[in-house]
Parts: sequence; structure tokens; C-alpha cells
Amino acid sequence: MELFKLTAHELHQKLVNKEVSSVEITQSVLGRIDAVEDKVQSYVNQTRELALAKARQVDEKIKKGEPISPLAGIPGAIKDNMCTKGIKTTCSSKILENFVAPYDATVIEKLTEQDMVLMGKTNLDEFAMGGSTENSGFFTSHNPWDLDRVPGGSSGGSAAAVAAGEAIWSLGSDTGGSIRQPAAYCGTVGMKPTYGRVSRYGLVAFASSLDQIGPIVRDVTDCALVMNAICGYDKKDSTSINSPVPDYTKALQVDVKGLKIGLPKEYFVRGMNPEVEKAVQKAVDQLVALGAEYQEVSMPHTEYGLSAYYLIAPAEASSNLARYDGVGYGMREEGDDIIAMYKKTRSKGFGAEVKRRIMLGTYALSSGYYDAYYMKALKVRTLVKRDFDRAFEKVDVLITPTAPSPAFKIGAMANDPLAMYMQDVCTIPVNLAGVPGISLPCGFVDGMPIGLQIIGKPLGEDTLLRAAYTYEQQNDYHKRFAPLGEV
Ligand code: GLN
Repeated sequence: MELFKLTAHELHQKLVNKEVSSVEITQSVLGRIDAVEDKVQSYVNQTRELALAKARQVDEKIKKGEPISPLAGIPGAIKDNMCTKGIKTTCSSKILENFVAPYDATVIEKLTEQDMVLMGKTNLDEFAMGGSTENSGFFTSHNPWDLDRVPGGSSGGSAAAVAAGEAIWSLGSDTGGSIRQPAAYCGTVGMKPTYGRVSRYGLVAFASSLDQIGPIVRDVTDCALVMNAICGYDKKDSTSINSPVPDYTKALQVDVKGLKIGLPKEYFVRGMNPEVEKAVQKAVDQLVALGAEYQEVSMPHTEYGLSAYYLIAPAEASSNLARYDGVGYGMREEGDDIIAMYKKTRSKGFGAEVKRRIMLGTYALSSGYYDAYYMKALKVRTLVKRDFDRAFEKVDVLITPTAPSPAFKIGAMANDPLAMYMQDVCTIPVNLAGVPGISLPCGFVDGMPIGLQIIGKPLGEDTLLRAAYTYEQQNDYHKRFAPLGEV
């Protein structure tokens, strides 16, 4: 049996029933990595020995009759912008190429408590800036559904690994769509939790007021399992929400009777692929047939979300990335004096997109422009947030496409950053408002998967999971496995 094709919950059942061992599962995934990683290139760094050692420990526990947690012994992959003690954390940047964090991110601590089997760290757009992994300082990952296409980004490595069978589950981070968009492009499920629901401690900061960690997995059930493992208050993150975490598996019910669904008309933007629009409408019809109530809602400030984001995120990034100066972390290029050293280090260590954002952000924050750009963007952010508040007075969840089109060809947008930024038009407002969103497979366009986005109220992850689970149980999109070229 091809164990690497199963979900975490299916594999957990097999472990508990003693049908397979964690070592067998891990070897199956390692074999798959050997077979396809050359083509997919989802990993920046693999931790094979560590994975097998952990798998053996879990098997020992099972043999002794000790209880195991839902993710114990199940191979997972972590986006390489989350700190792992003793294992490199590069952010796919030359400036951190050899950086080894002296501590674990809180999510890593939590998953280690669960006995996860870590297969390695996955590729991303440098410092999570991008939507295709083409901005990675190392290499571009490939979409398992069509190797000539991008897997999306910035968490493209995580989504590609899960879709290709090189990991059973993974973590990504989402500042403007970086979990949901690659999840959609690769036919997987991805959730960006409410801002503050998951600790950001140990997540290398891109734009701190927007960043959130979340799962990229194969189905909604696995999404609930990973959410159970990573959510919760953390005093090491001052923006962490101190509110109890429900058992998200309780939300896995086919039940949308009376659920009020809103379709924001402004999300169906010009240039959107008509097949994507049709698939979303079909999904809504399915939920309505099961008893959900549907209405159109208006979110008039949606179109300004993108511009506000591309001021706020670079502004925060320009400040967060000031720390990479050749002194405290990573790479250092010697110069004649300290200023020359800073300049050489940053000029060699950062890629073009990171530099573009640092320049944009520094400009927007500079005296004379602060009010015109940064301050204005913050005001727009408030208006976008109010659109959500108002919509949620009328409806329980909002439904939109995750991205306007399926994954594009590698290189197609390389010289057009604005076209690339447009891919985030449906996901960015969710980060600006701090609310949760999930993307799940809702069909195919020209053989490429597309995603349905469900957006919820703050801390409404359980409602999202219930709606998503209900939809998933009516369809089989999530059960199809990427063909991966001729492999
Ligand atoms: N694609 C968006 C950007 O380039 C979002 C990135 C993200 O969510 N990390 O900023």
C-alpha cells in the first residue's frame, strides 16, 4: 500500500490498530521523496535521520501500550521560516543560509510534545514575500499537478510537499494569503487562523500585524487535528489571544442547516477566470441544498485592500528586516568600515523582491510621506475591517474564491510584480481584518486544482471547519492525487 497517499487521521488509525508502524510510514514518505523530490523541490533541508529516530520512539510507545496523540509518528514538514533548535532556519534567504536558531518556535514545541515526525523544512519565497516560491533565494518549487507551474507561495514548498506525498501534513505561514493560495494551487486544504490564535513566537517576522501560522493538509479532518495541536495562548507572544481552544474535531459534522452564507460581490473581480467563479457558485448551491441560507453582501472597501497591504506589509518588513546587518544573525560580508559591511552584507544577502519591499516600506514610513502613505493605509485597513464587521452582522461565513485563477506557469509573472500582487486580492483583506479563512479544493480548471475560500468571524474556526467539512463530504476533489508528470 502507498502509505504516503493517506491522511494523518487514516494513518493514526492504522498505527493504533497496529496495522503499520511509524517507521513503515516514514520509510514510505522517504521513498516518495527519493522518487519525486528532484522534480518537485519542496524541501530546503531534509531531516531524514531525525525522522526515523522519532518514528522508532513512537513505535516503542505503541509497543508498550502507551497512548499516542493524533499526530504522533506521522511525517510532517515545516515552512523554513519557523525556528527549529539545532536545524537550519533559512527563510530561503542567502542572508540566513547557515543560520541555526538556538530555540524552537512555540508551534514546534507543541508539535514535538505530540511526537511529530519532522521530515524537513520547506521552501518559500524569501522571507515569505511572494506568491510562487520564485522569490526563493535558492530555487523554485514545482506544482505536483503540472511541474511547469508554480505551487503558489509563499508557503509553496509546504503545499507541494503535501500534494506530492513528500509529507502527510505541513505548516505554512500566511501574511496576505501564503497558506491559502498555495493550498488552492496544489489541491490541498489550508487554514489561516484568527490573528493571535496561534503563537508567532519563533516565526521569523515578515509583517508582524498580519503574520499567522496554520496548517496545509490533505483534508478538513487533518486541518482540525493540526489546529488542535498548534493553537493556544502563549505568553511569549504579546499578540496571542488568551481564550480557551475548543476541540476542533467536534466541528467535523455534516450540518449547515440555517448557516447564513454571504457572497461578497466585490470579490468577483475583473479578470477572474470564469470557471473559478462557476465553481464557487456551485459550491454555494450545494451548501444551500443542504439547508444553508444564502445572500449577497457588499464589502465596498475590498478593492483598496491590496494597496493598503502593499504599504503596511512592506513598512513592517522594512523594520523587521533591519536586524539582518551582518552582526546578530547569519551572513556577513566584510567592508572597510561598519557602514560598508552593512551595505555589502545586505546587498549580497537579500534578493530583488526583499530589497523592493524594504525600499517601499522605508519610503512609506519616512518623514513627509508617513501621513500620505502609511497612515492612510492604516485608515483603509480600518475600513476593510469594518466591512467584515458589518457583513458578519448579517451572515455567519463569507464564501469567495481563494485566488482568481489556477496556478500559473513558472516565469509567467516574473517581470510583472503587480500582476503577481493581484493573485492575493481575495486573501489579503482577511489578514487586514485579522479574521480566519480556510481554502479547500472545489474543482479543476484545465486539470489544475482551484480553491474555495470560507471566511469566518474572529475565533470562528469551528464554524469554518463545519462548513468546510460539510462541503468536502459532498465532493471528492480532495481525494484525487496529483499525477506528478510521468512518475
Ligand atoms: N503574496 C503575498 C506577498 O507577497 C502574501 C505573502 C504572505 O502571505 N506571506 O506579500
